[in-house]
Amino acid sequence: MVLSDRVKGITPSATLAITARVKQMKKEGVDVIGFGAGEPDFDTPKNVKKAAVQALKEGVTKYTPASGTDELKQAVCDAMKRECGVDYAKENVVVSCGAKHSLYNLFQALCNPGDEVVIPSPYWVSYEEMVKLAGGVPVFAECKFEDEFELKAEAVKAKITPKTRIILVNSPNNPTGAVYEEKELKAIGELAGEHACTIISDEIYDKMVFGKRKNVCVASLGEKIKERTITVNGVSKTYSMTGWRIGWAVGPVNIMKAISNMQSHATSNPTSFAQKASVEALNGKQNFVSKMAREFNKRRKRIVALLNEISGVECPEPNGAFYVFPKVSSFYGSKWGERTINGSLDLAEYLLGEARVGVVPGIAFGSDANVRLSYATSMQNIEEGVKRIKQALEKLKASQA
Ligand SMILES: *Cc1c(COP(=O)(O)O)cnc(C)c1O
Repeated sequence: MVLSDRVKGITPSATLAITARVKQMKKEGVDVIGFGAGEPDFDTPKNVKKAAVQALKEGVTKYTPASGTDELKQAVCDAMKRECGVDYAKENVVVSCGAKHSLYNLFQALCNPGDEVVIPSPYWVSYEEMVKLAGGVPVFAECKFEDEFELKAEAVKAKITPKTRIILVNSPNNPTGAVYEEKELKAIGELAGEHACTIISDEIYDKMVFGKRKNVCVASLGEKIKERTITVNGVSKTYSMTGWRIGWAVGPVNIMKAISNMQSHATSNPTSFAQKASVEALNGKQNFVSKMAREFNKRRKRIVALLNEISGVECPEPNGAFYVFPKVSSFYGSKWGERTINGSLDLAEYLLGEARVGVVPGIAFGSDANVRLSYATSMQNIEEGVKRIKQALEKLKASQA
């Protein structure tokens, strides 16, 4: 069967590939520790589950409006007011089947063929593919290791051309954990104004911010910036609800109308009772969120300390999300039996084989010098897993003599 040109260029998600291999090894009884997880290792809060069960009992099992229920849209507006201090109306919100779907819709609605989208790099794998599927051209703005991967407005400015249509920002960031500084985001907002660009701000990790930075809602940086900004968020990470598939976009009414139209022909509404549960997540008690963040913060400190104890590994201390993105390129060129470790794919392969530890190769995020480890796993796994990595890397070093 002949495939369309559109889908021929898609690269499968490397994060899912490594997770699948780790799962397979576990099934075969191999004692493997996975640092690949892209989701919290907490159960969905009880009050949220209860709300879903209640909704099922009450017959909330039919179509809702394609762009989501008024009740959930209002809850999103209330959350934007509470967390970011910005005012929106229900017309500014479209609820979709996960934040990933919101982003997909947005690129489809905003990109004409050849339009350029500036994406900070290292970047979440799906942005690049979604932009390409929309006919757009991804252009990467480098976030430097020396800056702990924080995005600088200068790096964005250097990539703006007359074809730039969208500037994407993702803070806290996946894969680096970087949280961008307010002054840089403000400067990026001003650049967007000068060059008539839209800002898409993926704030899915906004409740997981630690250390010296605080979270910044881009839409809160002034009325002019708000007018150009679309905020993307959802319940997946904040409430450990990745399987429920509820996310949203908040922004200008004309764009929301367009994606609501598109969505009405593609998926129709996001799942009715998952929307009900999401209302409870947003409006109910929030102690789960801070409890989870406190736990992540403990693990963050521990994993950074442990990784930096390994000679040849450099791990910046990230201020958000639940990932670390250490530099491991000092091991490249090493021999492993007959093989040579030439990059992050080989190193990930080596760690899986030699240490029985799953990490995600940085090349999947546009940075071959690094690997990504998720600390959405138990402290015990962190201690044991990094110990194994240390042993395997020390063995590798010793065998090079
Ligand atoms: C997990 C994630 C999302 C999307 O999550 P959904 O489950 O689709 O809501 C979006 N952006 C980034 C950077 C993510 O890591």
